Amino acid sequence: MNWRRWLPGPIFRLALGVVTLILCLLMGLDLLVGLTPDRYSTEVRVRTRIAESLAIQITAMLRTDDMRGLTHVLHGVLERDAELTSVALRRRDGSLLARVGDHDTLWSLPEDAPSTITNVRVPLHADGQHWGDVEMSFAPISPHTVQGWLEDSRVHAMVLVGVSALFLVYLYLRRALQYLDPGNAIPQRVSAAFDTLTEAVMLLDSDLRVVLTNSAFARLHADAGKSVLGRYASQLEWLTGNLGKDRGLWAWNVVARNREAVEEELIELQGAEGLAPTKLRLNASPILDGDGHFRGCIVSLSDVSQLHRANEALLSALQALDESSQKIQQQNRELAHLATRDPLTGCFNRRAFYDKVSQVMTNAARNGTAVSCVMTDIDHFKSFNDTYGHAVGDQVLVAVAAALQRGIRDGDILCRYGGEEFCIVLPGLNVAGARSVAERLRQSIEEMADANLRTTSRLKITASFGIAQLNAGSADVEDMIQRADAALYEAKRGGRNRVVVDSCGAADPAG
Ligand code: GH3
Ligand code: MG
Ligand code: MG
Repeated sequence: MNWRRWLPGPIFRLALGVVTLILCLLMGLDLLVGLTPDRYSTEVRVRTRIAESLAIQITAMLRTDDMRGLTHVLHGVLERDAELTSVALRRRDGSLLARVGDHDTLWSLPEDAPSTITNVRVPLHADGQHWGDVEMSFAPISPHTVQGWLEDSRVHAMVLVGVSALFLVYLYLRRALQYLDPGNAIPQRVSAAFDTLTEAVMLLDSDLRVVLTNSAFARLHADAGKSVLGRYASQLEWLTGNLGKDRGLWAWNVVARNREAVEEELIELQGAEGLAPTKLRLNASPILDGDGHFRGCIVSLSDVSQLHRANEALLSALQALDESSQKIQQQNRELAHLATRDPLTGCFNRRAFYDKVSQVMTNAARNGTAVSCVMTDIDHFKSFNDTYGHAVGDQVLVAVAAALQRGIRDGDILCRYGGEEFCIVLPGLNVAGARSVAERLRQSIEEMADANLRTTSRLKITASFGIAQLNAGSADVEDMIQRADAALYEAKRGGRNRVVVDSCGAADPAG
């Protein structure tokens, strides 16, 4: 724990010194010339007068032998005067005739000793002879216990004067020292060196008061050029207004607390109205002496607005680049689609079809699986063209292609082979499998294809199918397609709207 921080600051110590000097001076002057009234002699006069008048009164009562009245008077005197603590009437032979108050304790004057300020003895005479004495005990003038001193009004006055003087002198010195330029403590060549820096620099002392700023700092804000020296960094509102509400997190407070640097803190400094805020990068480092004690803090602020703007421009350029690259990728996908698809039906064109089929062949050869092919041709397609026009013919083509696409699996390859002729390659299926697929397709075209026509009322759309399977061990796709085509021809000849399997192809049960 650092006990130094609990010591009063230099201004307070200075003020304490000044006030102590003033009080000593006052007390010295009081001793020399008596600034305050002499309480002792006043008190002696008063007590003597009380004693004498009481003695006169008692003498008169002794003459009338009024013992009851005497005791009554003694009590009355004791009650009236707060300073009087006991009274007694002592005969010449030493015996007490009357006594009020705790006289035995309070009376300590030896028989022949002269009166003191606390014990006053007044002789009484009767018939020209010494009858006895009136003994009076008074409270001491100066307190002789600590509590007594604490209750003494002179001490109260002294403390009051001391404390108020300390407060006023402290305030005065603090204000005065603020106006005395603490920057003078920095040699001229040091501050000139700081002025050459492009970064704004602010040097704080151990109380976090500004002792130096450079010219770049003065340019930060309209108020930064005004006298900031001697002020607490936390009082620079144009700066702290941008640092968040929690004072404990302000860089110099963090540095003073942790003795560690705060680095690369980004802040936004609000400029004059209408001006964009300045982006600043704030660094703050502690200044420690040889013993590691905190002596101050150096705060630097560099304007990174330009860098920030460049970064933002770069970011938006990157974003634009990303968008255009996505657009290009999309266009590439569209181009690839256009290059591989038949524009009317969306089926693969022949070139793409042969590319895909060659991949299927490679896999089938590697795995020894079957491959089948279905050739299909729309029946009497020409009549749709002739009866309803080419546009309706096109719709029939689209509807049939959609029915075919719906009826096959993902790995199957559908191609518009010719005008109204389609070819489907079915990997992994033998003729039996391909036949059932073709049968399903045929039914679906017959039952539903016309429902997808946009303009024309119901038409009887059918198609014929020819099926062939790749010969075992062969990779001759053309041969398989030709055989399927021949089977299709058979289907046409057999009455259309039917499925015919290639009779020459070896029906391999595999698949
Ligand atoms: P079949 O049952 O024997 O197959 O008779 P078909 O009328 O379907 O056969 P044909 O070969 O006589 O007629 C095919 C017609 O298809 C000829 C051609 O004008 C037409 N055609 C080819 N391509 C297109 C096309 O893209 N759109 C349209 N609307 N018609 C086409
Ligand atoms: Mg036809
Ligand atoms: Mg045809």
